[in-house]
Amino acid sequence: MGVLTGRTALVTGASRGIGRGIAERLGRDGARVAVHYGRNEAAAKETVAAIEAAGGSAFALGVELGLPGDAEALWEEFDRHTDGLDILVNNAAIGASHPIEEIDEEEYDRLFAVNVKAPLFLVKHGMPRLRDGGRVINISSGLARTAAMPHNMVYAMTKAALDVLTRDLSKVLGPQGITVNSVAPGLTTTDNTAEFLSTEAGRAMAEEISALGRVGAVDDIADVVAFLASDESRWVTGSWVDATGGSLT
Ligand code: NDP
Repeated sequence: MGVLTGRTALVTGASRGIGRGIAERLGRDGARVAVHYGRNEAAAKETVAAIEAAGGSAFALGVELGLPGDAEALWEEFDRHTDGLDILVNNAAIGASHPIEEIDEEEYDRLFAVNVKAPLFLVKHGMPRLRDGGRVINISSGLARTAAMPHNMVYAMTKAALDVLTRDLSKVLGPQGITVNSVAPGLTTTDNTAEFLSTEAGRAMAEEISALGRVGAVDDIADVVAFLASDESRWVTGSWVDATGGSLT
């Protein structure tokens, strides 16, 4: 029996990267996991297979986020598999790195639609399913609170907005014993960062800014999320958990 046995978790963007690591960890802890994906069904099925191979239970759920009606479509699909939710992890997001001269409206709107609007409406439409004592965990970024890095401005703005959602939602859901927290990774090895971290300079920079002298791994983040998903985190809500390996200090 794991600490999450009997609970159901939904992890958005669990086909790859940090989301996959979180889904696998929550599955090992006993939760039944809805493995959400956008376009990569094969990868989501691999996540499901990995959870099942470790003795857990999971199903895949594909809905493109960032489009009108995305949240309702996701819950409709979710309801075909199960009823009721205990843990919602808003992990799916997209990035962008440009100077302001190169940011156009279409890209700005897309970033906010996927990284901010989708989590908000997933919570709004998911609330009737979220059981008392549940958990909402939003995956933010150290970039929301680091010293200014203007190339990442719009992405960082979306994460700062997500952190406000965390703060305010903790008051809305608190009366039901539901906690809401942000987890902020620093540079973590995933498809997203592979190119940057494969260069000598990129890797050295990431190692240097961390107080612990290394680049973050997916499991470093998944373990923090597992704590916030567990009963042991019951008195932590509305918080911003720095999971950057000391990159902001
Ligand atoms: P990846 O790019 O490796 O994976 C992103 C995941 O999100 C995939 O499963 C992808 O699904 C899904 N996704 C992306 N866009 C959409 C969409 N429009 N609709 C549905 N699903 C979508 O990301 P990471 O694992 O690197 O990042 C995960 C989270 O951690 C993000 O919130 C990110 O901002 C945050 N973060 C990451 C850091 C890092 O260094 N990696 C640092 C700080 C924060 P599919 O492939 O199926 O389309």
